[in-house]
Amino acid sequence: MEYQIAADSLKDRVILVTGAGDGIGRQAAISYAAHGATVILLGRTVKKLEAVYDEIEAQGSPQPAIIPLDLKGATKQNYLDMMETIEEQFGRLDGLLHNAGLLGVLSPFDQIDEASFDDVMQVNVKAELLLTQAALPLLKKSDDARLVFTTSTVGHSGRAFWGTYAISKFATEGMMQVLADELSNTKVRVNAINPGGTRTGMRAQAFPAEDANQLKTPLDIMPLYLYLMAPEGRDVHGECIDAQPKRQPSK
Ligand code: NDP
Repeated sequence: MEYQIAADSLKDRVILVTGAGDGIGRQAAISYAAHGATVILLGRTVKKLEAVYDEIEAQGSPQPAIIPLDLKGATKQNYLDMMETIEEQFGRLDGLLHNAGLLGVLSPFDQIDEASFDDVMQVNVKAELLLTQAALPLLKKSDDARLVFTTSTVGHSGRAFWGTYAISKFATEGMMQVLADELSNTKVRVNAINPGGTRTGMRAQAFPAEDANQLKTPLDIMPLYLYLMAPEGRDVHGECIDAQPKRQPSK
């Protein structure tokens, strides 16, 4: 399917992107801004967020905002405070892209380390839960709100040695489905994207020997990211969609 949206489809929308400093999240923030959105850049490395901020300003898009936050240590109160600030500053929230993620350590199941398990589950699952809970009151005030989760091929088909990461992405898909069902009679649309192998730091960490030039870039997979945030994608709900449906997953 071709995902096309108008050049100004995201005008006047306020969209929060987690993990906006690098990889897919960085590109999503820049692309949402290029289509008219005011983006809120959440991440843990301020320098990277500032570089994205500068890129967005340089392309003439609406002025973004930065929220420095390490999802590993963030508490429910941090998320509630953040939403209060967003409501004060922008008066609204129309979209939330849960993109930040940790790969953790790939290992045989019996060697999954408890501390690493906790870190990955905290960032990839619990942070999504708490942030979503805090954001929902504001999202429900929007006429057309979007929640987009990020899964993986190993989030719907388990694979040896992908340990905690795969478990966390199954949980993410489950969270999306539960929420989509609960919110089916509201104006909040809830979906998940599986980016497929994409040229980023996380991908290089998982597959250090592969030729990264063979991979799609974050920019290549943006049409789906844009579509699910835009009015054009309003009818999609409760779906987990592959950004690269024709791609054979690597082993
Ligand atoms: P990257 O590692 O390139 O970027 C991840 C981003 O998340 C970074 O900006 C990183 O911050 C941020 N992040 C990580 N941990 C935290 C934390 N504790 N608090 C705040 N921010 C954090 O990954 P990708 O762009 O490749 O991945 C984006 C999403 O796509 C992830 O959910 C991933 O699981 C998923 N995905 C990616 C695929 C791929 O091939 N690339 C395939 C399938 C799914 P910092 O820059 O400071 O490290």
